[in-house]
Amino acid sequence: MAITAEERTGTVTATIDGRDVTVPEGTTIWAAAKSAGIEIPVLCHDERYDPVGVCRMCVVDVGAPAFAASCVRACEDRMQVITTSPELERSRATLIELLLADQPDRANDPKQITTGDNELLALADRYGVTKESGLPAGSGRGIDTSSPVISVNHDACILCDRCVRACDDIQGNDVIGRSGKGYGTRIAFDLNDLMADSSCVSCGECVAACPTGALTNKPIHDVPIRPRTELDAVDTVCPYCGVGCALTYYVDRDRGAIAYADGREQPGSHGRLCVKGRYGWDYAASPQRLTVPLIRREESYPKGALSADVRGEMAGAEHEHGSADGNGGANNAKGKGKRRKPGGLVDYAEVLPHFREATWAEALDLVARRLTEIHARGGPAAIAGFGSAKCSNEEAYLFQKLIRTGFHTNNVDHCTRLCHASSVFALFEGIGSGAVSTTYGDIVNAEVAIVTGTNTPANHPVASSFFKQARRNGTTIIYVDPRADKMADHADIYCQLKPGTDVAFYNGVMHEVIRLDLVDHEFIASRTSNYQALKDTVASYSPERAEQITGVPADVIRRVARAWGEAKAGVIFWGMGISQHTTGTDNARCLIAMCAITGNVGKQGTGLHPLRGQNNVQGASDMGLIPMYYPNYQKADDPDVKARFEAAWGTTDLDPKRGLTVTEIIGSALKGGVRGMYMLGENPFLSDPNINKVRKALSTLEFLVVQDIFLTETAEFADVILPASSYLEKDGTYTNTDRRVQLGRKVLDTPGQARVDWEVVQDIANRIGLDWHYDSPRDIFDEMVAVTPSYRNLSYDNLGLTGKLYPNPDPERSDGTVVMFGEKFNTNDGLAHLVPAEWLPARELPDEDYPFVLNTGRMLEHWHTGSMTRRSYALDAIAPRAQVYLHPDDAAALGLADGDMARVSSRRGTIELAVKFSYSEARGNCFIPFHFREAAANLLTIDEIDPLGKIPEFKFCAVRIVRFEQPPQAEVADQVDAPQADG
Ligand code: SF4
Ligand code: SF4
Repeated sequence: MAITAEERTGTVTATIDGRDVTVPEGTTIWAAAKSAGIEIPVLCHDERYDPVGVCRMCVVDVGAPAFAASCVRACEDRMQVITTSPELERSRATLIELLLADQPDRANDPKQITTGDNELLALADRYGVTKESGLPAGSGRGIDTSSPVISVNHDACILCDRCVRACDDIQGNDVIGRSGKGYGTRIAFDLNDLMADSSCVSCGECVAACPTGALTNKPIHDVPIRPRTELDAVDTVCPYCGVGCALTYYVDRDRGAIAYADGREQPGSHGRLCVKGRYGWDYAASPQRLTVPLIRREESYPKGALSADVRGEMAGAEHEHGSADGNGGANNAKGKGKRRKPGGLVDYAEVLPHFREATWAEALDLVARRLTEIHARGGPAAIAGFGSAKCSNEEAYLFQKLIRTGFHTNNVDHCTRLCHASSVFALFEGIGSGAVSTTYGDIVNAEVAIVTGTNTPANHPVASSFFKQARRNGTTIIYVDPRADKMADHADIYCQLKPGTDVAFYNGVMHEVIRLDLVDHEFIASRTSNYQALKDTVASYSPERAEQITGVPADVIRRVARAWGEAKAGVIFWGMGISQHTTGTDNARCLIAMCAITGNVGKQGTGLHPLRGQNNVQGASDMGLIPMYYPNYQKADDPDVKARFEAAWGTTDLDPKRGLTVTEIIGSALKGGVRGMYMLGENPFLSDPNINKVRKALSTLEFLVVQDIFLTETAEFADVILPASSYLEKDGTYTNTDRRVQLGRKVLDTPGQARVDWEVVQDIANRIGLDWHYDSPRDIFDEMVAVTPSYRNLSYDNLGLTGKLYPNPDPERSDGTVVMFGEKFNTNDGLAHLVPAEWLPARELPDEDYPFVLNTGRMLEHWHTGSMTRRSYALDAIAPRAQVYLHPDDAAALGLADGDMARVSSRRGTIELAVKFSYSEARGNCFIPFHFREAAANLLTIDEIDPLGKIPEFKFCAVRIVRFEQPPQAEVADQVDAPQADG
């Protein structure tokens, strides 16, 4: 009988090339040899995949009649292994000769002239094997160039299946298989479709896996892909989502450009990337980069939006709503009533003439003077700052310090308010910490995982690959979300609940868990408080009642309760489908209670993990870029904390009260409260709810300085625009969703006169009378750690290439703490505080006039307001247009075909965009990504907020959808090309 991994306890000692090697039982000869520093050549094998032993390149002599494939054959005690002998070398050379026979000619393929990364050609060179002349070049199996980012040359494929295992086993995308028979066999995408027509998500894992030239990256912007030995490698971190995948950019220094990116090993991402990380880096080289400071021209006052998109004019005819609110400026009147040319990016010819170039000194002097004047006149309440979760920890720290010490106000916030503010509120209240209690990779230790309110494959793609992998290894996945997106295909139980009914669903599950007595009585007694109140509340949520509210059948709710309650280890991952509701805090309270009553916190494979959106939203929050907390979530309205920071920062007049949040700052500006703003890397025009209101607020500001890399929609309202550095152009640290603090390293130089952000913040600080002398991000990091206890012990020197998790008592020796709260929680009494919640309906329900529920969010290929991804060739090519996702039956009832144009209206505005048939949507619901300026979803959303987390309701408002005939393009273009404003 075969022994399982669990049953193997012993070790074996084999002799490999005369050396005794002791390894755990079950270790392959290849792995044992590698551990002893003996390299055995491979083609079909890669340590990350299950071995298949098909290429025979790794054969070794074990004294048997036939050579053994070392990648699959396990070591045995006293086994004698020879890895190199004349016979073995001859066998390998013959194999290479055979494989080379139908490879494309090197001379005709620039990528194959130098062997570089082509492992087969590298082996051919090593063994001195050349292709026999006269043989036909290629097998005639074809070339597929349909993908914008990947070339497929079937002729170069050796059918090693590495791409198949990379796609299936590592990324869980299940796209590649095989088709054909005999010599015609080739890899196939789905049902032998072209790659671009298949379900491929362009993660590029197959390219990274391919040992020949069969799957290769296409050059982006004609930067040739040379072997990595000829390029400069910079190890850094992906700039997009909170997963924070480690990667290496390969830079062509002759061209000053990135040639390509590849994943690299790090405990959280294991070398994986998604399409954004692998192909979405060329935005930094966009011709639309801001390279000179800009000052608004006198004649472009009074202020208002400058482009048709930002004015709210649609490509079509008359508006249904007065969506041009806030366009009070004279220049705006010129655009009124005009149709705009549909398009994805700001037209600089339309906007730039409203600004003149300035020197840095002039621009910074003006910023300091105007903000100081407004502060002198209006006091601290007149100033506010939005920092950015795309900036580094050091920049976030400096920015909040500038607003707090320079203007004596806590009016400083960032997009965490729009992301997980409600989760953070509930977590602080419940367990005394806003950070995750375990890493997403800890799912491997979970018996069951609830994944809820998150389209993980789109928003945290690499984290989702770990979820899919865990399920293949036995973890039960329960997916709870109104949209049946790809995660539903990988779930054991999928619950398509009605939008906005999460509290009822989880109360129903807890009702059943308690009824079945599946709670952890000991944990409840020793580690929680207020259980009886929770029990009393959920008592009225029988599965039948929960079914009435949620639409999820009572029996499915019972199954979920059993699976959750009976598991020895359960973990919950959630996203903005939980947090972005007016009941976001209640939703998160339910998840905390789910874990606490079953004892699912504080041990391996258990816990609470709100998946963080931006690459540094965790870090920016840790650094105090929020109005109610100083760094490390020290309360802004606590006199002791205030005194501590006054001492640390050498000041005496910090604001004793909490500041305003993002949405409150917009509201205050509308009422004349906040008059001057510093916007570093945020684009609230597209990211905040109810854009008409935001437009009005931004137009009303007396002074706005925007520091950014592009002329964003928000920058159209600026008095001064400062050209900033992209992520790729500076050093700094970033904290991912797991609490992993990683070093981002400079890859490229800033273009033109653009400057590194922390230096600009420091220049402004010094101009308003602060006395700052930071020399480098390292300098700032050291100060920041001194006031941020959870980062204690971390330093630029010990973060290394893979970063460290915090808290970390010994970073020299440890990766950091994976599972938190093993003994007690961070609350004042060390207990988890259970807070019961009653289900409340959404604030704006569908009715006869607005019969659909609108859900907004992200898509895989784009990021937030699209300022980076829409300027990335690959990402824009794959997903170029705004679409409303609609169930085909709903579309048919509206007379809409896939691809037709529709007009979507709410009580706040109207947008026009194409219809995309989607079986992910339940009837009566629709989904619109918020990345597209020409069809800004947030023109429709409601600005109701969660009363505690102050997060807006991005996931629920009522809309109407009607068919819309687009006017002929010529007519649109003619009208737009007329001059808009004096230059
Ligand atoms: S790019 Fe990714 S999804 Fe597409 S085939 Fe390759 S591994 Fe699969
Ligand atoms: S999963 Fe997130 S961090 Fe990783 S490559 Fe994709 S966008 Fe970047």
